[in-house]
Amino acid sequence: MLTAIVGINWGDEGKGRMVDLLASQYDIVVRYQGGNNAGHTVVNDRGKFILNLLPSGILHHGTVNVMGPGMVIDIEHLCREINRFIEKGVEITPENLKISHGATICFPYHVRQDILEEERLGDKKYGSTRRGIAPVYADKYMKKGIRMDDLLFPDTLRDKLGNIIEWKNLLIHKGYEDRTIDIDEMVNWLQIYGEPILPYICDVSEYLDKAARDGKNILFEAQLGALRDIDYGIYPYTTSSTTLASFATTGAGIPGARLDKVIGIMKAYSSCVGEGPFVAELFGEEGSRLREAGGEYGAATGRPRRVGAFDIPASRYGIKAQGADEIAITKLDVLSYMEKIPVCVAYEIDGERTDRFPTGDRLLKAKPVFELMDGWQCDISSCRKKEDLPPAAAAYIRFIEEMTECRIRYVSVGAERDAYIQMY
Ligand code: GDP
Ligand code: MG
Repeated sequence: MLTAIVGINWGDEGKGRMVDLLASQYDIVVRYQGGNNAGHTVVNDRGKFILNLLPSGILHHGTVNVMGPGMVIDIEHLCREINRFIEKGVEITPENLKISHGATICFPYHVRQDILEEERLGDKKYGSTRRGIAPVYADKYMKKGIRMDDLLFPDTLRDKLGNIIEWKNLLIHKGYEDRTIDIDEMVNWLQIYGEPILPYICDVSEYLDKAARDGKNILFEAQLGALRDIDYGIYPYTTSSTTLASFATTGAGIPGARLDKVIGIMKAYSSCVGEGPFVAELFGEEGSRLREAGGEYGAATGRPRRVGAFDIPASRYGIKAQGADEIAITKLDVLSYMEKIPVCVAYEIDGERTDRFPTGDRLLKAKPVFELMDGWQCDISSCRKKEDLPPAAAAYIRFIEEMTECRIRYVSVGAERDAYIQMY
């Protein structure tokens, strides 16, 4: 069984939490895109963990975790993350962590370029996580990347990196007039942080291919959501990679395989980190109350997230883009304080109502059309069966199912592993 767990919205839907819950049914968990701009939170009997690079299956004993060639990896960050987990008693060895030799290395100069550009943009900034993700993906497609594979060939590495740095300095030093990138410093950095991860680097394609043929269950873990996809999202306020399920096997290292199932994760309301159009956004007192109730602060960056009502046009679009077969809705418990719950059921553009998610600058003109649903105003965090849900909460779920035309299989009512309801 090959299953992808993906985000339907703008990210932070609770993918890490759902991967952690379902990982026990899978032999292997694979991250297939993105880098340490991800922040997946897992709360279980061992404590609270935030994963930036490691797949969320790392907390399950016996699960093998793979970082695919579609990822960009800051090896300094990875070393620290591995050590942080080992210190907390999590076992990480080449047996349960495998890093693709095709994954691209994110260097300190990518981080610097990211910061320099955001600062140059000033109030027109994209709201980047400033972790070098856009520059490293851009370099990859310029064919000026260094891959994990290159760490295995130290004799030619210095030359390769030297040529790239010469080119990069045209931008960093001559363009932005920042400090010159020093080749010795970068080679040294590669040695310090490359050495400890060498044992994990392997041909993950060979491993995954055999596993799939042996009938193993593989879970593909996405980062961010459909609306942040580079091609199908709210460009340019997207991320720099493909967040969609259709890319999962390619980014993971088994491009020839076919997914059996796609589980889309969406949140009972909306949140969005960074800049860009966010039609259902709630402001003022209404917004801050929801932000506090949901603890909506970036897991990777600590930045306060923008929050809003559940967005039907955006979610319907996201479900379609992901080709979701099943849906998990998270954080329903967060809405328990509301007397009336706003839902964005449509957009209004130039005075006309539309159900469709618009593209390009039309999206910037969209205004939300809200409908108010009844709240339930009681604690639902200990509900474990469909029948436990108060009628208003069940009605809210049904309304979203009908409007998005997709059945909801899991309803999460708390961050802990067992705080959920299986609806069918
Ligand atoms: P991801 O990036 O999609 O993995 O999501 P994040 O980890 O960035 O954000 C989700 C946050 O919500 C985390 O802090 C989770 O612990 C928390 N969370 C997940 N599901 C639930 C839920 O059903 N209820 C509550 N109250 N918190 C949840
Ligand atoms: Mg997150």
